Amino acid sequence: MEQLSQSLLELITQTATNMPADVRRALKRVLTMEDKNNRSGQALQIIGLNIDMACEREQPICQDTGMPTFFIHTPVGVNQIAMKRAIHEAIVEATKLGKLRPNSVDSVTGKNAGNNIGPGTPIIHFEQWEEDEIEVLLLLKGGGCENKNIQYSLPCELEHLGRADRNLEGVYKCILHAIWQAQGQGCSVGCLGVCIGGDRTSGYHHAKEQLLRPLDDVNPNPVLAELEERVMAHANDLGIGTMGFGGKVTLFGCKIGALNRLPASFFVSVAYDCWAFRRLGVRLDPQTGAIRRWLFREERPQRLADQENLPLTGRELHLTTPLSEEDVRKLRVGDVVLLSGVIYTGRDALHKYLMEHDSPVDLRGQVIYHCGPVAIKDAQGRWKITAAGPTTSMREEPYQADIIRRFGIRAVIGKGGMGEKTLQALKDYGAVYLNAIGGAAQFYAECVTEVEGVDFLEEFGIPEAMWHLRVKDLLAVVTMDSHGNSLHEVVEEESGKNLELIAPRR
Ligand code: SF4
Repeated sequence: MEQLSQSLLELITQTATNMPADVRRALKRVLTMEDKNNRSGQALQIIGLNIDMACEREQPICQDTGMPTFFIHTPVGVNQIAMKRAIHEAIVEATKLGKLRPNSVDSVTGKNAGNNIGPGTPIIHFEQWEEDEIEVLLLLKGGGCENKNIQYSLPCELEHLGRADRNLEGVYKCILHAIWQAQGQGCSVGCLGVCIGGDRTSGYHHAKEQLLRPLDDVNPNPVLAELEERVMAHANDLGIGTMGFGGKVTLFGCKIGALNRLPASFFVSVAYDCWAFRRLGVRLDPQTGAIRRWLFREERPQRLADQENLPLTGRELHLTTPLSEEDVRKLRVGDVVLLSGVIYTGRDALHKYLMEHDSPVDLRGQVIYHCGPVAIKDAQGRWKITAAGPTTSMREEPYQADIIRRFGIRAVIGKGGMGEKTLQALKDYGAVYLNAIGGAAQFYAECVTEVEGVDFLEEFGIPEAMWHLRVKDLLAVVTMDSHGNSLHEVVEEESGKNLELIAPRR
């Protein structure tokens, strides 16, 4: 199978950079459902533009290229050990080329493997079948949406919905609750794979397998088909919207499967996937490993966005770093800003570090960007950022307030919002939380005009290092201001009330 590694490298590259045809069709519909002049509509336009840019440049759609998860069918007799070796080779090469971010971290030492290979990475599921070719499906699902997966054990009590019994009505409630609890944090608009039954392990596995179904198929089980339709008919009444900004569209797909269960257990497992729904497949020649045909991939994808540039409304506010307290106090929840100047990336490792040490740069009046970019060196040895969307901010909640206070930070950029402690710190010390559009890695990489420096590269690895980025017109929405207002709190509360209307409490 001399062509196998190359075929797999193509599969990985295309999956990370090119959206499946069925997902494109679904997002195309979603894009028409919001007013382009409101926050959610503008965010959707940016998402569309980002998908186009990623495809044209063959660069990652989202900087979190996720956990590579392979679902493979082989004819009897195919050497699975050789296939595994070829997958590893292709993963290492794709990482070197910047198509995958180095995402595999040793859970004991915290060290990044640097090449996406390690215990449990990548995930490979083999099965045999009676066809005469190899099928390889690849799912790249990032951490932000993976963290919003949820498993219910029925019967249970659900916030806003009351009791969920061991029947389809109880399952329906769990699915609605799963969408509500994710809010915008899994980078809505989102899509669900659901498994009714199984055990805790097989339930999640089967829920993810549902994400391998084309979004526009019809469930062969009429009962589940009806349940899928029911979820899709009501989920968007929640009003969570794109990125949790509020709006008409929250969910763009729901696929439900079922497994037998033990009489004592009744699990409902929900795999939440974000708008950056990356899944492609190939059918391979079992002798050579050459690609015979692609699955889910469109030969010549049409553009999703209406325009080629940043979709502006004319109401955006321009800010340049360093920021003053006065700059920040003027901002109110709902304002859209275009930020220019130098900003500093910081994720979990940096926040933990700054709790106990000084910063390598003076952060007074500066902006911290919750972002783990994809960065590669060009031919001259200069760093180039090839993907740079925001990561989930809530992980930094235990640290952020102290760091704002100690270092005099004026703005935090991230996604999904933060908690009460940070909100209080924004108020006390004059700072603001800016919600960037989650996953829009190409759109934000385009805003980076220069990498001015990097700290802790050796110690923390590329995603966790502190990158000093000069940016121009980085767009983000003020979702938490210095006056104690949080859009996230408002949307969570209102969508909770909507949840009660959709499926009344018993
Ligand atoms: S779009 Fe958001 S949730 Fe999805 S992989 Fe990217 S950062 Fe994670």
